[in-house]
Amino acid sequence: MTDAQELGITESKEYNTGEWYAEVVKKAGLANYGPEGMSGFIVTRPRGYALWERLQGELDARFKDTGVQNAYFPLFIPESYLEREKDIVEGFDPEVAWVTHGGHEELEERLAVRPTSESIIAPYMSQWVRSHRDLPLRVNQWASVVRWEATETKPFFRTKEFLWQEGHTAHATSEGAWEETMLRLDQYEDVYEDVLAIPVIRGQKPDHDKFPGADTTTTVEALMPDGKSVQGATSHHLGTSFAEAFDLTYADTDEEERVCNTTSWGFSWRSLGALIMTHSDDQGLVLPPTIAPEQVVVVPIWQEDTKDEVLEYAEDLAEDLESEGVRVELDARDERNPGFKFNEWELRGVPLRFEIGPNEVDDGEITAVHRPDGESVTLDRDDVTDEIHDQFDEVFAKLYAAAEENLSENVREAEGRNEILGTIGQHGGYVKAPWCGDEDCETEIKDQIAAEIVMVPFEGDDEKHHPAVLEGDCDCAVCGEAAETTAYFAKSY
Ligand SMILES: [Zn+2]
Repeated sequence: MTDAQELGITESKEYNTGEWYAEVVKKAGLANYGPEGMSGFIVTRPRGYALWERLQGELDARFKDTGVQNAYFPLFIPESYLEREKDIVEGFDPEVAWVTHGGHEELEERLAVRPTSESIIAPYMSQWVRSHRDLPLRVNQWASVVRWEATETKPFFRTKEFLWQEGHTAHATSEGAWEETMLRLDQYEDVYEDVLAIPVIRGQKPDHDKFPGADTTTTVEALMPDGKSVQGATSHHLGTSFAEAFDLTYADTDEEERVCNTTSWGFSWRSLGALIMTHSDDQGLVLPPTIAPEQVVVVPIWQEDTKDEVLEYAEDLAEDLESEGVRVELDARDERNPGFKFNEWELRGVPLRFEIGPNEVDDGEITAVHRPDGESVTLDRDDVTDEIHDQFDEVFAKLYAAAEENLSENVREAEGRNEILGTIGQHGGYVKAPWCGDEDCETEIKDQIAAEIVMVPFEGDDEKHHPAVLEGDCDCAVCGEAAETTAYFAKSY
């Protein structure tokens, strides 16, 4: 097998999406599967982790700008703590991993490996909050959690241990907690759209699909090219259920003791799965310049007699870009030919390739090639530090436009049960239909076609967020009773 064959992606994104995805993750050097006997765990390689770090930076800055501080809580939660909020126990019990021994000693109380941390954070918040002056209280932790699901491993999309952030806040009023819930949802939307170049729709989960113990679970959803929805991130208004369970109270201005309202919100590395799935192609990984570990690769193309001048020009160019803050890689390897290098950097998803040969040197130019579509443009060497930012914007806009087109073409309406089934069966994507609010009507669709209600849009949200279609009196598309709202049905990851 030649190097080029080893490098190349052999599966097709369109026809063999699952295998293609696994191949891109592996060959682009993002992750490996965990050891035998530990299915569901992955090893994140430096190139994969670099993507996570960049996302982390983007979110962390937004959080800190809006009053959030980072903290860290233990990996384990005592069973008695977990049991204090009954919905959490019921919701997560089948997926909790337990520690029963420390060394050779059996523990007096089992410890849960955190599936989410409300049950250990809320009791400490209750120690930190005394009066209304301590509110709002906002903490975030960057951590991993474990949910022991018996499903097939899909790196970043579905793993037993995953990286995420979980924010936890306490507020004096329900309105304050609602504002917080929506602020974090806005920030998630922002990161998906402005950093990952993935347009999202947003709304709330049906009551039967809320986070355990929550009043309201809000979500941003991204449509993948295979027609399935990814729950991009969620933000929960927890009401007073956790505060009551953990005595999280405050003294108001009249020294009356009141129960706090709390929120929690989480964004995981599933976002990386969505990123890979959305933009990448049969040549490999495609990344927007906002998040790519290398934004530009400079590939010098020389013959023996032109080597010195071409290399010098390329090195000089790379230095200029670097001093401008551009993440640039100069690929001056002697033992590889340019074609091999092109393939390799395409596989790795570098958004822009600069080709430098003797002609570029003579003309004082740069041949720039866009990774998403192979478009080639000529840049003026002297203006490159200015022009590079326009080039990044262009590449980003191409990726966003393609994802936006996929989304806008795949939101359809249906008025009856068979129309929902037929439309999702034929096209995938989202089907919005009037819904009575009864879980049974969702089950009926789920049983037939494995599609569920991924969200219900917020009342009054604008066109961009794909709002409700319900106008006047409508009947539920499934049962024919009076409809309460619009439901978005989709198959999901
Ligand atoms: Zn119904």
